[in-house]
Amino acid sequence: MQAAADTADRNQQTDGRQTRAASVAHGTRNPDRRTSRRHTASHGRSRQERYERGTRSYTMSHIRGKDTTIEVLVRSYLFARGLRFRKNDKRYPGHPDVVLPKWHTIVFINGCFWHAHSNCSAFSRPKSNVEFWSAKLLRNTERDERQHAQLVAAGWHVIVVWECELAKPVREARLAKLYDQITAMPGTEPGVIDDTIPAKSRNNQPTAEPDDTMQPR
Ligand SMILES: [Zn+2]
Repeated sequence: MQAAADTADRNQQTDGRQTRAASVAHGTRNPDRRTSRRHTASHGRSRQERYERGTRSYTMSHIRGKDTTIEVLVRSYLFARGLRFRKNDKRYPGHPDVVLPKWHTIVFINGCFWHAHSNCSAFSRPKSNVEFWSAKLLRNTERDERQHAQLVAAGWHVIVVWECELAKPVREARLAKLYDQITAMPGTEPGVIDDTIPAKSRNNQPTAEPDDTMQPR
């Protein structure tokens, strides 16, 4: 199953036709009429169902990218407040969205789906093709944790901002807080800041060995 998931994953990166082929191999295309009958009976044809018909991965592959709206939003705000940064810097694990060398701080702006935001009302796990998505999203979260640990070990402050924190009603407050968090960094120990995780369960212990090439500069 792992191998199959990987294959589907690779195919997703290319084009719609191959995604479709991968979905078929995976058994997700027209996953089952049982599902659609159940949905139709309750709330008609839902958005979720459209994805289940084999188009979810295709759709998703087109909305992730290095300049999605939430990233532009955050960068524009920080720039307007006078902060200067590099974006999508490939020298660092995870190609961070925002790198602020002066503040020794890296900001990741995470989509709640792709990064499997836990306890998030905006993110729900796909109901079909469960094994594939569980494996994929688990890989994503494990990779995130690993990369954050590497950056912290190299002396960076890592701030994670989630898509759901940028919803209109809460956006302004979150961005203002982000600015404060960044500019308050000097003199504090490197670690991961994720406002959506209760402080007591945060684990800031770096597990990775420091890597000189990732030092703040
Ligand atoms: Zn979220």
